[in-house]
Amino acid sequence: MTLEAESPTGEATCHRCENRSTRVHDRYRRTLMEAPLAGRALTIRLAVRRFGCENASCSQTTFSEVTVRHGRRAL
Ligand SMILES: [Zn+2]
Repeated sequence: MTLEAESPTGEATCHRCENRSTRVHDRYRRTLMEAPLAGRALTIRLAVRRFGCENASCSQTTFSEVTVRHGRRAL
């Protein structure tokens, strides 16, 4: 059994220049967790999109949206 989720927002913020982008560059699926549920394997998958930064002076050409927080701040 597989559950799939995708973020409903159509934009993401570049973590380098904080410019908002709506240009979806690519998308991939990532498995969030696999857990046994009532004797069956349950897989939760998340569609993660990669956006292209629209800021020409930014050195970050693509970045992935962050939809999952791990309760820990990136340093
Ligand atoms: Zn940027």
